Amino acid sequence: MIHLSEESRKGGASQLLIHTLSALVRLHELKHASPMYRTLRDENEIARCELEISPEIMKRYQIMEERYGSAALVPIKNGICTGCYLHQPKSGGIELTNSLYQCHYCGRLLYHLEDLYDESAF
Ligand SMILES: [Zn+2]
Repeated sequence: MIHLSEESRKGGASQLLIHTLSALVRLHELKHASPMYRTLRDENEIARCELEISPEIMKRYQIMEERYGSAALVPIKNGICTGCYLHQPKSGGIELTNSLYQCHYCGRLLYHLEDLYDESAF
């Protein structure tokens, strides 16, 4: 899923995966903030975030974004997708990375809020 060369370049898988989640959440925030207030700096940050995210994840995100817009990336709470409110099977959502999942029912990208908070120290 994640290329080995990419892992070693950034110093370890977990770091890369954590980075992917925060980059994706940030990208999503920036893209769905009111375009009226989007600055050149935001555009640059969007481009930078896109570089952090693996092409495979990016592709899935774009498909979901086309379908769901600002609700393409949502937190998972108590095993429930907060996009469609359906309970995920025991195993959780479909695992894309160790901090990013996909809903079994609606396909939205899911993440645990705790994972995101953990990263703010990073
Ligand atoms: Zn769902």
